[in-house]
Amino acid sequence: MSQAAASFNPFDLRGRVAMVTGCNTGIGAGIAVALARAGADIVGVNRSEPVETAQQVCALGRRFVAVRADLASISAIPGVMEQALAEMGHVDVLVNNAGIIRRADALDFSEEDWDAVMDTNLKTLFFLSQSVARHMLARGAEQGGAWRGGKIINIASLLSFQGGIRVPSYTAAKSGVLGLTRLMANEWAAKGINVNAIAPGYIETNNTEALRQDVGRAREILQRIPAGRWGAPQDLGGAAVFLASSAADYVHGHTLAVDGGWLAR
Ligand code: NDP
Repeated sequence: MSQAAASFNPFDLRGRVAMVTGCNTGIGAGIAVALARAGADIVGVNRSEPVETAQQVCALGRRFVAVRADLASISAIPGVMEQALAEMGHVDVLVNNAGIIRRADALDFSEEDWDAVMDTNLKTLFFLSQSVARHMLARGAEQGGAWRGGKIINIASLLSFQGGIRVPSYTAAKSGVLGLTRLMANEWAAKGINVNAIAPGYIETNNTEALRQDVGRAREILQRIPAGRWGAPQDLGGAAVFLASSAADYVHGHTLAVDGGWLAR
């Protein structure tokens, strides 16, 4: 075996640029740092300044570009692409992570809460993927045989598979994320783009803070998790690195649950 073949690391992301939405905190931060540790430079897209994530990525010797944008509206997308490409030159990996949740009984749920969740969690995910895929394909056409393909990773949820309670727009959006993951994978696999999803279980982030403060409910959840603990944002890193890397070149339209065994129960 040649020395190059012997030292080949399929998880090596050096030279790759990963755009991660919603990476100032929680799961997005965990994923951005894991991708940087594997060698990727990061474009972080957030409403607020992702100070800590930027520091952690830079401490790993990787570049971090912060793009400020409100992904509640797809009108933000052209500006996001323009700044990302002006500063990094290209995007090889997109992680659609930014998301919100609104809680109310289905009988009382408002149109405003429906639209807010669907716009951020589903509509922007699709149209940002479309923009990034167009960029990847244009770059691929320019580079010909040298192009290594692109990766899109969508953050789904246990509620992509289960009904949940008091989160109708979230359940609808996260179910839609899996449908769109499969559709984009179908349409773009032959063009060299892998589209896959990660379904996190119960992870300790801002998103689940209210849930964790409800002591009875938090205990019920904990008792149902086979791994015996809630997840941490760092637990999502390995799955993201795998799906962003050439180790996943033949993985299309798949959803990887990172849930401490919840769905296996
Ligand atoms: P957090 O609330 O910690 O993080 C959400 C992130 O999304 C923040 O970085 C936030 O950035 C960003 N965001 C939200 N709205 C917008 C917007 N309009 N424009 C730009 N960025 C936005 O939650 P999590 O880390 O838990 O959630 C991350 C993803 O994981 C979500 O898609 C969520 O649905 C999913 N998920 C979480 C689970 C959990 O148990 N925590 C379980 C299953 C799925 P900013 O603060 O700048 O607005």
